[in-house]
Amino acid sequence: MRQSPRNRCYPCDLDGGKVRIMDMIVVMRSTAVQADVDRVVERIGELGLKPSASRGEFRMLIGAAGQKSPTIMQQLEQLPGVDRVIAVTQPYKMASREFHEADTILDIKGLRVGGPHVNIIAGPCAIESRDMLFEIGRVVKDAGASILRGGAFKPRSSPYSYQGMGKRGLELLQEAGNELKMPTITEVTDPRDVEIVAEYADIFQIGARNMQNFNLLLEVGKTDKPVFIKRGLAASITEWLMSAEYVLSQGNHRVILCERGMRTFNEEVRFTLDVSAVPVAQERSHLPVFVDPSHAAGKRDLVPALALAAVAAGAAGLIIEVHSCPDKAMCDGPQAVLPARFKRLMDQLKQVAEIVDHRVTQWGDSPAQPRRVESGGWMS
Ligand code: PEP
Ligand code: MN
Repeated sequence: MRQSPRNRCYPCDLDGGKVRIMDMIVVMRSTAVQADVDRVVERIGELGLKPSASRGEFRMLIGAAGQKSPTIMQQLEQLPGVDRVIAVTQPYKMASREFHEADTILDIKGLRVGGPHVNIIAGPCAIESRDMLFEIGRVVKDAGASILRGGAFKPRSSPYSYQGMGKRGLELLQEAGNELKMPTITEVTDPRDVEIVAEYADIFQIGARNMQNFNLLLEVGKTDKPVFIKRGLAASITEWLMSAEYVLSQGNHRVILCERGMRTFNEEVRFTLDVSAVPVAQERSHLPVFVDPSHAAGKRDLVPALALAAVAAGAAGLIIEVHSCPDKAMCDGPQAVLPARFKRLMDQLKQVAEIVDHRVTQWGDSPAQPRRVESGGWMS
């Protein structure tokens, strides 16, 4: 298993099996030395709080669990090497805007994700064969998609439905990604598969049904691969952000959120897309927020409207299922967009993105200008 060097529990420190929630976070300067960190840790202990140090992307972060007060914060702020002390009021800490004001922009194999960049993830629901994956991969790449999707381990409502190609599917996805110069994303459903998925894919997808599989979240949090967390079918925004916090708490700061529709009484669509989740999650968190119009719609004709609405609402990207022969698809054929419609949709998305000061991005493009000023962000 590839372990991140930052792999330490923070700010939820697994303390004898209990999760300790941090009330303050001391952000050290990038120039701080070990002696400065030691002094802060010692002082937090003297104040009767529980310290927990961890290396962030650029600087050391020291959490303090216990009663916070303006006096304590002021005292800590004056210690050598300290940049600032943040009081975090939300139950999720490192996922919150309070902790990090600027939009997080991830660097995934040179592709920028988040901020003003709009990335379109596209591909089949499930990997079914080499020919099919490469054919669809070429179509979506040529149309402007930047990340290739394809399920190798499929979570199905029925145990008798197609369950995916497993390891062979991962091998094909890696081969296609390399040939097309597209980072890849695939779902991991079991903590025992994290190691093998990390070996072949560039981004872990956590499915809606696994959003609160806490052992799985902790396991992907111990790696250094980006984690794409789908919102559960009936999860609140806070629960969704707490799932992100599980990953961040393990030292993996590379998290992407994805709204994919929720269960309502509306039987016309597979799930009801919560477009408002985009601005709400963006207000509460610095993490990129994507939307999956395919699983929400359930029907290919509805996908473009939901996709355009999501980008108009400010989403950092979309994940769209595309198939050249959906009547033969093993999984989710009815919601797969056909190649010609996908191409036209991409052209429409580029226009809508511009209206909201975003830009549809592909690998090799120069970075777009962020709207917000970066303040020591997590360019990872
Ligand atoms: C998928 O992306 O193929 C999928 C199963 O999505 P969700 O977990 O959102 O249902
Ligand atoms: Mn699907």
